[in-house]
Amino acid sequence: SEAAAEGLRWKAYDPAKLADAEWKLSLLGRLDAAIDSGEVWVAYQPQLDVRTGRLCGAEALVRWSHPEKGAVSPMEFVLAAEQHNRIDKLTAFVLGDAIKTAAAFQARGITFDVAVNISARLLERPGLVSLVRQQLADARLPPERLTLEVTESAALTSGRASIRTLEEIGSLGINVSIDDYGTGFSTLEYFKRIPATEVKIDRSFIAALDRNASDRLMVHSTIELAHSLGRTVVAEGVETPEILAELTNLECDKIQGYFIGKPMKLEELTKLIVNQEQAVAA
Ligand code: C2E
Ligand code: MG
Ligand code: MG
Ligand code: MG
Repeated sequence: SEAAAEGLRWKAYDPAKLADAEWKLSLLGRLDAAIDSGEVWVAYQPQLDVRTGRLCGAEALVRWSHPEKGAVSPMEFVLAAEQHNRIDKLTAFVLGDAIKTAAAFQARGITFDVAVNISARLLERPGLVSLVRQQLADARLPPERLTLEVTESAALTSGRASIRTLEEIGSLGINVSIDDYGTGFSTLEYFKRIPATEVKIDRSFIAALDRNASDRLMVHSTIELAHSLGRTVVAEGVETPEILAELTNLECDKIQGYFIGKPMKLEELTKLIVNQEQAVAA
């Protein structure tokens, strides 16, 4: 009908949407060059081992310092890169940086783990496993120092090919973490099916953990379930000492969040970790 056509035309010419699409395409057009020039870089957010009270590793989080727009969120350009099949080079870059970082600590005699976010799309296609294996070999990093994070929703909808990829990754000795856990619709069956070594509870359950009974119940039961299946648990988004204390009581294994440290430059992380080692040695 004419009204429907009118609606369509209005949608097609929505200036905000058009500007957004143009912005994303212009970003993607510059992505590879930005990786090569250093505009795109990797930040590291430390993780605390609750039992030892020491920083034991970090999550690699990609950053884009755009010359005109300033800091562009990975929520924008990672998603756009996924949608336009441009995620391969970006992922190889972040993986390479993270693996070199862990290897550099290893060379100083420091055992340090790194975690890298992997888009669901990359699990569906061959190539990821051989890339990771090659990078580990080049850096001489033991596979158990590396964790690949896959979001719960991605893992949930993944077909046989993705499950196979995760199994291959696991058989190499690389850890697999289910990121943003709790935001999908997990079942016990799913828990058994996904070959993961770690569960990372989503920030939305952690933020009010000390005040919200149902969040506490969810976190408590997730930790019990994961432990009974031999998996470790990480809590993300820990912002206060009260929440850290709560998670310690619940026997959560690892903690990540602003209370421990914000995502930072590698130099800053290195100072932090080297200082910690010296303090322990002293
Ligand atoms: P994520 O993997 O769940 O990462 C956690 C996000 O929470 C990060 O946002 C981190 O900066 C933020 N965060 C950490 N601690 C706290 C806290 O205490 N409070 C609050 N409010 N926020 C906290 P960021 O760096 O903006 O990354 C957003 C998402 O972008 C990530 O979520 C991940 O899904 C994606 N991402 C980032 N880097 C990469 C990458 O290299 N590859 C892929 N595929 N995705 C990436
Ligand atoms: Mg993550
Ligand atoms: Mg997460
Ligand atoms: Mg998240």
